[in-house]
Amino acid sequence: MYESKSISTRVQNSEPSSTVMIADKARLLREEGQKVFDFSAGRAFEPTPGYVIEAAIAAMRSGDTHQTMAKGTTVYRKACAAKLQRENNIIADPEKELVATMGAKQGLTISLLALINPGDEVIVEDPCFVSYKQTIQYLGGKAVPVPLRPENKFRWDKEELENHISPKTKAVILCSPHNPTGVVHSPEDLRELASLAVKYNLYVITDEVYERMTWGGRRHVNLATLPDMKSRTITLMSLTKSFSMGGWRIGFIYADEAIIKELEKLQQHLITSVNSFVQAGGAVAFGQEPLQEVKTYWTEWEKKVEYFTGALNDIDGLKCDMPEGSFYAWTDISALGISSETFATRLLMKENVAVIHGSSFGQTATDYIRITCVKSWEEIHEGLRRIHAFVQGL
Ligand code: GLU
Repeated sequence: MYESKSISTRVQNSEPSSTVMIADKARLLREEGQKVFDFSAGRAFEPTPGYVIEAAIAAMRSGDTHQTMAKGTTVYRKACAAKLQRENNIIADPEKELVATMGAKQGLTISLLALINPGDEVIVEDPCFVSYKQTIQYLGGKAVPVPLRPENKFRWDKEELENHISPKTKAVILCSPHNPTGVVHSPEDLRELASLAVKYNLYVITDEVYERMTWGGRRHVNLATLPDMKSRTITLMSLTKSFSMGGWRIGFIYADEAIIKELEKLQQHLITSVNSFVQAGGAVAFGQEPLQEVKTYWTEWEKKVEYFTGALNDIDGLKCDMPEGSFYAWTDISALGISSETFATRLLMKENVAVIHGSSFGQTATDYIRITCVKSWEEIHEGLRRIHAFVQGL
């Protein structure tokens, strides 16, 4: 007799993505006719810039509706290379050092797929974006979290990081500006990480999707530009956040030729290619200096983040600093004496306000909630009023 078959334990034992699950829940409530204030997933209120939409429509109308090269169209990759040169001081060969991805998440998956052998360890920050650990686990690797402590302003402690490196460590995943804490790693932080990567021969996957969101005049530095780092860095970029293009699913990976060759194989088998007309829109977004329309988003977002975090900080029981970057309010709720999960669940039930519980980002974050600040001013004001009422009622 054959035993009855079931879904793989790898998938059965995995947790859903809190960011996507809660955003879906909020959407369902809206579809049911409720007024919901959704500050959960990192999705901005603004629409995709008109000139990018026009480019995609024109591409569709002109017949650009077929699969493209697996690594992306030449036009798209050239646009990505132009962006890297213009904004990041990186000279990338569009033929050999770039591959188009369906957003940074799909870029992360193929990067890890290319690196991990069963049992390999990958160091992640704790807290970190909810899908890092899960993806590592899906691929048979082991995620090794290194705490980012509030008392250290959510930065790595070099010694602690080094203590987590073992002979099985294959890679480190870095996110800067950081989701969820908003830390922007300084050149010094990056030099320290680079020295460990070189010393222990590690790869580093850098998730740079928030690179345009550095506040207070700070600058984003690309790890790949540091000495000896180009060959061991896999840089993930996307238009999801900065151009408010989350639904397009478009990004790219910049890495050494030897890595890109392998990633291209993965794209051939896994997705064939990124959607053709989406790449046409992406080429216009990356290929030229962003138009004023987009730049306005970024200045507006800094104002919204500043306003939101300041107002949260004024609520008795909540503590929230202005982040160095990204568009999240990383809010300390420890004074309230309830778990972040209870806070988020009750807030949604009582006030129809959706936020993400910190515990889903890591063990160090059980006393935090993450709030996406970049919504309409109306939603921000009403959301804050409701959060205030909820906290007062506890
Ligand atoms: N990356 C975003 C977030 O952290 C969007 C949701 C997701 O893709 O998981 O909220």
